[in-house]
Amino acid sequence: METFTIIPVKSGEFAPTAKGAFMYQEYWGVTINPVVIMYLIKGRDKVILVDTGCGDEERAKNYHHPLTRPVDERPANALKKHGVNVEDVDIVVNTHLHWDHCYNNDLFPKAKIYIQKKEMSFAISPLLTQVRFYETHQVGLTPGWLKAYDRIVAVDGDANLAPGIDLVTLPGHTPGFQGVLVNTAVGRYLIASDTVGLFENWEGIGIHKHVISGIHYNIADYYQTFEKMEKISDHVLPGHDPLVFAHQTYPY
Ligand SMILES: [Zn+2]
Repeated sequence: METFTIIPVKSGEFAPTAKGAFMYQEYWGVTINPVVIMYLIKGRDKVILVDTGCGDEERAKNYHHPLTRPVDERPANALKKHGVNVEDVDIVVNTHLHWDHCYNNDLFPKAKIYIQKKEMSFAISPLLTQVRFYETHQVGLTPGWLKAYDRIVAVDGDANLAPGIDLVTLPGHTPGFQGVLVNTAVGRYLIASDTVGLFENWEGIGIHKHVISGIHYNIADYYQTFEKMEKISDHVLPGHDPLVFAHQTYPY
């Protein structure tokens, strides 16, 4: 079976954020600078992009959390540094529809966009705790992912995307969350995105083998998701951890 390498691509950095937003009920009073990450997978004949980053600094400041995103970290420019133009991207996968993971779907004119059906349904009418993350009408916005509505492929559960690449449902952070399981030379890498915001979420702390995100929809589902992840993956990649850039590619 084909093996792949995964390239983490940085597209901005948020102002200091409570670490507890990522590590539920841990690190009171501690802040970190979360980064926005897109994951690029270059196969033999397909270019796959997992998540498309967030809106610009203005939108971030007005509706979310202050962001620094230099010109060379705008999604199109950030990808160019890795030899990929926007029209080269064949497939976009959104792990979930929080604004910082799907805002730029429309930048990729030829890409089919894979999203879980359940996630789309929740994104239209989320719990009140998440309306800001989904940019719903309750906060006066129209979600960015709708700009590429005509190219969406609705996925219903676990699905094979290509030989060696699978979409796997990971409910917890959001109900229709999906990770991308990638066959590599050293085993299966799971792009877990916000299910594991930081490597530390997966590594655990104290009695907690793994730590759920401070942002969640269903904690019981989340723990079942952790059990599933232990079974199906050998390595896990996070949603917002600056430490991911310690290596240019995975495996390293
Ligand atoms: Zn999220």
